[in-house]
Order: sequence, then C-alpha cells, then structure tokens
Amino acid sequence: MALPGIYVSIPFCAQKCTYCNFRSDVYSRALRADYLRFLASEVREAALPRAETLYLGGGSPSLLEPDEFETLARALPSHAWREATIEVAPGEATPQRIAAWSRAGINRVSFGVQSFVPEVARAAGRKHDGETVRAEVERLDAAGISNISVDLIAGLARQTWASWQQSLAWLEQLGPNHVSIYMLESDDDSRLGRELRSGGTRYGASEVPAEDLILDLYLHALERLQDLGYERYEVSNLARPGAESAHNLKYWRMEPYFGFGSDAHSFDGEHRWSNAASAPEYVDRLNRGDPARVSTERLDSERLLEDRILTGLRTREGVRCSASEWERLRANAAALTERGWLVAERRRLRLTDSGLLFADQAIAELLG
Ligand code: SF4
Repeated sequence: MALPGIYVSIPFCAQKCTYCNFRSDVYSRALRADYLRFLASEVREAALPRAETLYLGGGSPSLLEPDEFETLARALPSHAWREATIEVAPGEATPQRIAAWSRAGINRVSFGVQSFVPEVARAAGRKHDGETVRAEVERLDAAGISNISVDLIAGLARQTWASWQQSLAWLEQLGPNHVSIYMLESDDDSRLGRELRSGGTRYGASEVPAEDLILDLYLHALERLQDLGYERYEVSNLARPGAESAHNLKYWRMEPYFGFGSDAHSFDGEHRWSNAASAPEYVDRLNRGDPARVSTERLDSERLLEDRILTGLRTREGVRCSASEWERLRANAAALTERGWLVAERRRLRLTDSGLLFADQAIAELLG
C-alpha cells in the first residue's frame, strides 16, 4: 500500500472571506495558543506510520508567527517529505515566516489567491493584488520553494469577463506549476452563499455574475490553461506534467491519510474518522481530556466501492473496477457511455470532458 499523507488543520484566518465555507474563523490569540498546544500533543501521541506527504491547510496556516509554526513543526515527523505543502493567504508570506517554513521542510505553497484583481479580492474580504502575489512568489523562489499552486474562483462578486482575463493574465505571467479553478459554491456554509440563497445586500450577492457567465468563465480558464500546457488531472485541478498534488491524489485514490486538528478527517484503508469540527470544540474536548476524534466508521465493500467511484471518477485517470464491481456497474456505465460522458476500457472507468462537467450527476447515475 502507498505511504500515507498527513493533514494538519490550522483553522485561523485574519478575516472571514465572504465565499468561505470552511470551518475556519478569526479567533483570539489565547484560543490559538491552546489549540496549537493540543494539536502538537495530538500529533505527538499518534502512532504514525512513515508518511510521504504533509499538507498544512485550514484556515490560513500562513498566519502563524514563526515561533508558533516552529512549535508545531517540532511535533511533526522530521524526515524529508516527498511533498510538504502549506496553504498561504497572499500578504502573509513574510521573509521570517518563509524561513521557518523552509527550515521545516516545506517544499510547496498553495496560494489562495481567488482573484488577482484588487476590486474583486476586496469584495470577497481580501486585501491583495497581483503585485502582492508576485513579490511573495519571488521571495519563496529565492528561499528554494518554487513548487507553487494558485487557486482561483470563478463567480466572485464584481467579477466580470475583463477582470477574469486579468487574473488569467497574471497566472500566465507567474506560471505556477499547479492551478485549481473552482466555481463559486452557493451553499449555506458561507455568508455570500447564504445571501445568494436567502437575499440580502451585505456580502455582494447582487454583484455575483449570472450562472451561465460563471460557467463560461470556468470553461474558458480550463481551455486557456490547457493551451498553456497544463493538464487537467481532476475536475478542478490542473498541473504541469509531473506537478500534480501528491497529497490530494491520495484522497482521490483512496490511499491512507491521517488528519490532525479541528475538522480533520482520516482514512486507513478500512475506517474513516473525523475530529471535532470547530477550533473551540476541539480545544474544549481536549481540555476535558476527551479525544479529538468524534466519529469513526468502518466501510464495507459496497461503501468502499462507492467512495472509490465518488473520488476516483473526478480524476482523469479514473477508477479500475474488479470483475464483480464491473458486473454491478456495467448497465449504468453503458447508459453513460452512450451519452458520451464515460469511457470504459478493460474495467477502467473514466469521465470524458463532458462527463467531468456533470461529474456529480454522472457519479450518482453510475452508482444508481
Ligand atoms: S477563504 Fe481561506 S483565508 Fe478566507 S476565511 Fe476561508 S480559509 Fe480563511
């Protein structure tokens, strides 16, 4: 079995962005200190097998000051990582923090840019512009961290065709190894999403582009990036050949990973478990002497198949089925193949470009 990955959740942010549906927030320094102390002991006390990837996500792990970061880094395994990523909010990659990341073996940065255009970034609650990102990419490069990923969101308030082109021009100029493109999610977990669904004027819902424009922006970005030599290896992720995220591929390939901190999830090949969802709940539980873990589930063979299809079909490589799994899926697969959404070759199932566009529906229909 492949070596596992380790995920560490740092759910602290300088501000709460309008579109954000993660369990992160602006918390006090006191809560942060308690959280980091408990997180370090959760990692230390886990009987971890050797792992090959590390992902520090959140939240904004880049918000941690070097001394806080080093406390956490001391608790982590100290071997050289195949891939060690930190999520960075533009504006937070100071020389001192970068030096601390570098000392801890971080070799990849995922920038949550979302838009390079100041007006769009501001409407989402962010303060950066393209120059902020450029300066930080150069600073990281000088420190030896040149494996860079950039996230963009199509559909933010005040986004137009012209401002999207500006963001794509910045991407082209910076030339990161990896790009993630998402469409704005309108759900009740973000303030902007709630406003889109229920009305209101505070978070810019009235300035969100129409749904068909959002889809056009998204498709245009995929096309332009593929023209630039990026390969789309997952619904929302593109990489230069060889620069796919080794850590995220573990989720999609159902390889083992172990998560630490609030809202972290783990999978050992047979069981899934998850920790307390928010930072205050996590700290409360550990303060009382309770474990961080709040639920564990053993997956039977049907659930394992469903999860493999759910995650694997989102990737370009798709999913290889056993003979019995193929028997279970073959009729539904034939209907999707007929529609041009699926290709099945020697029991390996893959979504086509049109299938990837309707991935959720295709997966639901395949599983019946
Ligand atoms: S989008 Fe990122 S920086 Fe903004 S609140 Fe969410 S986790 Fe924090």
